[in-house]
Amino acid sequence: MEPERPCNLCGGTRHSLFTTKLGRHTGQRFRVVRCDACGLVFVNPRLSEAENQALYDADYFNGKGFDSSINYVMLEEEERARREESLGILAKIAVLKPGLDVRILDVGCGTGCFLKTVREAGYVRSQGLEFSTYGAELSSKNAGVRVRAGDLVSADFEGETFDVINATEVIEHVRDPMAFFRKVKALLAPGGIFLYTTGNADGLYARVLGTHWPYLAPEGHLFYFSARTLGRYFAEVGLALVDADTLGQQTRRVIARADDDIAHAQLTYVGKSDRGLKGLIFRSVGALSVAPMKRLVSLVVGKGRLPIAINGSSVDAAREARTRG
Ligand SMILES: [Zn+2]
Repeated sequence: MEPERPCNLCGGTRHSLFTTKLGRHTGQRFRVVRCDACGLVFVNPRLSEAENQALYDADYFNGKGFDSSINYVMLEEEERARREESLGILAKIAVLKPGLDVRILDVGCGTGCFLKTVREAGYVRSQGLEFSTYGAELSSKNAGVRVRAGDLVSADFEGETFDVINATEVIEHVRDPMAFFRKVKALLAPGGIFLYTTGNADGLYARVLGTHWPYLAPEGHLFYFSARTLGRYFAEVGLALVDADTLGQQTRRVIARADDDIAHAQLTYVGKSDRGLKGLIFRSVGALSVAPMKRLVSLVVGKGRLPIAINGSSVDAAREARTRG
């Protein structure tokens, strides 16, 4: 274990207990705290870097790690479950950065399900980055695109920049989010957007369930963000937020529907990996694949309420969506 740390967002050292949670992998009980100054929720103290790294071995990718929803042994079933998620992300890209020539970087690409969907949709300039060497090889083979092994903060892209950086369920794992977001800013071309999904600590689900919030996995999920804390992170590193009010009604509708699809897809694939009551509930809800149910799921988890970041101003994004779309 590491010693206690100050807040990664504001440097504050005073925090209150958010909840405690037993780690599935280590059997240790962890403290999850909320910074008194800025409200960031994080695991403190947390596993050391070496202990943390050891979590991401082959077992992690095969459903035996700290997060049982990651199971890439059943690659085909996994892909089906993740396809709806990938198409949702692509729908957002298509309205915010139109054109098949946009440069997409998928950070933490796992087994490459998203990159494969991207390539099949006709995008020709996408690539991936995956923390684990095991995952990098697997995803490159699966998606048929270049995948670097390593972490974003230390990765060398030799001056290359991107129109879209995507990070699906990644930022909660990162040990230094401030450094991560700073690197995102450096790698985004002017007008480039940062898309991601992560748990929303301010979501209804998190607030009602407390320690039973399924997203809590304190060995590997180190940070639990909210719209407010993410907004502050983005401002700190010089990224603006895409302001929904500047986008046309049609674009807003596409994004909202995509967020609903993504939330529904994630619930479905987490449900597939859980043999307990939670899995049964998730699978039952996931089977109701109709728009009102997807909207309800999305509202409860609150992921779609997290802001999209842009390297430029939101007005640029709106203009681009209008002129090219
Ligand atoms: Zn803070």
